[in-house]
Amino acid sequence: MNSFSNVDRQEIDKFDRVGQLWWDPAGKMGMLHVINPLRCRFVADHARIDKARALDVGCGGGILAEALAKAGAQVTGIDLSQQTLKIARQHAAGSGLPIDYRLLTVEELAQREAGSYDIVTCMEMLEHVPEPAAVVDACTRLLKPGGQAFFSTINRNLKAWLFAIVGGEYVLRILPRGTHRYSRLVRPDELRAWAAASGLVFDGVASLMYNPLGRRFHVAYGREDVNYMACFTRTRG
Ligand code: SAH
Repeated sequence: MNSFSNVDRQEIDKFDRVGQLWWDPAGKMGMLHVINPLRCRFVADHARIDKARALDVGCGGGILAEALAKAGAQVTGIDLSQQTLKIARQHAAGSGLPIDYRLLTVEELAQREAGSYDIVTCMEMLEHVPEPAAVVDACTRLLKPGGQAFFSTINRNLKAWLFAIVGGEYVLRILPRGTHRYSRLVRPDELRAWAAASGLVFDGVASLMYNPLGRRFHVAYGREDVNYMACFTRTRG
């Protein structure tokens, strides 16, 4: 598979249409704003963000990228949605943050800038690509030896189907309908196997536990639940 075929154009079109709503906490991407402080905390618990060279893969409107930049990282963000990158650039300029946003695949960037980053984040993106293992592998190649990768995604089991798809999209309607396709969701053991195969060592996992009363999440460390995130380190050599 070449780097250009690991893309689902329908997914990209969907994100192209989000437009200004990327930065509306009450809009359809609102959940990303709610969970962002929790995932930043997870990154900060495992890595030194200040002065780190960080890459955010599938950066969207830059919600996570901006938070990393505010925490002192030198951030590059990549995505394939042109409209989304336009919003991300405008917003970063308005926030006075020098984030380098680029339209290219992670596989392409891995060919050009292998071994360049201290931190690679790839959040809520693996479940939107045809070959997530190839994305994990490219993220690994982009890390310096000893650098850390952070992935977050949604589990693929009955509970995840009930909570993330039926509950999230149809009952509570906290996610737009059609956000997730069940077959694309990623089990934690799959993510760990892809990571291990590409030379990453597992550091830790945590899940975002949702409390529908108050639209609040809390982080359960060590747990692989519905919406989980994991940290890995690239081994030396
Ligand atoms: N990571 C951001 C946005 C998540 S939404 C956040 O958590 O705040 C998923 C993003 O992945 C969208 O912006 C979409 O355009 C992007 N995406 C989907 N497939 C992609 C691919 N193959 N390469 C790069 N970005 C992709």
